[in-house]
Amino acid sequence: MAAAQPAASHPPVLPPQLIQTERVRHSPETCALQGCIRWVPVKSLWFLGHALLGLVALVIYPSWAGALAFLVLSAVTLCAGHSVGMHRLLIHRSFETPRWMLRLLVWLGSLVGMAGPFGMIRAHDLRDWHQRQAACPPHPSHGAGFWRDAWWQLCCEFRLTHPPRFEIEPDIAQDRLLIWMERTWMAQQLLLVLPLWWLGGVGLVLWGVSLRITVSLFGHWMVGHFAHRRGHQGWRIAGLPVQGYNLPGLGLLTFGENWHGNHHAFPHSARLGVEAGQLDPGFWLIRAMQAVGLAWHVKGPEAEPAREGLTRLAPQGG
Ligand SMILES: [Zn+2]
Ligand SMILES: [Zn+2]
Repeated sequence: MAAAQPAASHPPVLPPQLIQTERVRHSPETCALQGCIRWVPVKSLWFLGHALLGLVALVIYPSWAGALAFLVLSAVTLCAGHSVGMHRLLIHRSFETPRWMLRLLVWLGSLVGMAGPFGMIRAHDLRDWHQRQAACPPHPSHGAGFWRDAWWQLCCEFRLTHPPRFEIEPDIAQDRLLIWMERTWMAQQLLLVLPLWWLGGVGLVLWGVSLRITVSLFGHWMVGHFAHRRGHQGWRIAGLPVQGYNLPGLGLLTFGENWHGNHHAFPHSARLGVEAGQLDPGFWLIRAMQAVGLAWHVKGPEAEPAREGLTRLAPQGG
């Protein structure tokens, strides 16, 4: 009888439905489903405190200089820092660059006010790991409605009962400057607060720091929310309940991060807007760096073996 098979006749057990990713390692107990959503006071205070101060900027300190500081600092920290430095370089290693440039881009990324370098890698990769499984809980899949998902993502965290082990490669985990950024990522804002205060007083600080952090965090969450619900897909990954979608028309506003359907299909590609007409300012920056010798081994969609189940659908620009 099949039920009488002794357990010892089987090879060591990894739950067959779990897919490992580069930095996420399983143990036999690892379970991607069992866990709970917990309120995180520090995360909530950080976001809601800046949101309140951002509102003060708009109501009490309206100014063109403030709006300019907000726009310039948002563009630099989100494009060069978050999209290129943290996401395409540090997390996906989709191109190579001198170490000083990596540190500079990652530092700009930590100024976004979302997390330090290791916190960003961890949050991204655990979500990515969840989204590659045959079943994914509602927190990492952005499965809840608009306001509930906002609360979950901006003020809470999903804690697994039996989490996997997480390993960051030694050349990153042992970099002293990155360790310093990780320990001090909230305090890094002081490096902006002081010159902004000197240039334009408290109003300029509220525009350039608090309002920028609020809009960056809320905007980042909104892209993640909508890019996992519906939209355009040039490719889909067969057999997975969580899919990534492109959000056409938002290329310039999100610096290319709106092409999330493409990113699910080609996670190692430095280029996110891979189809004709898909605007991708983050990739333009990488191309400019490449032109002056500051980026090399830039990976495209074809650089890695195709993901299992990758299926071509209709192309679309925007
Ligand atoms: Zn990614
Ligand atoms: Zn995704």
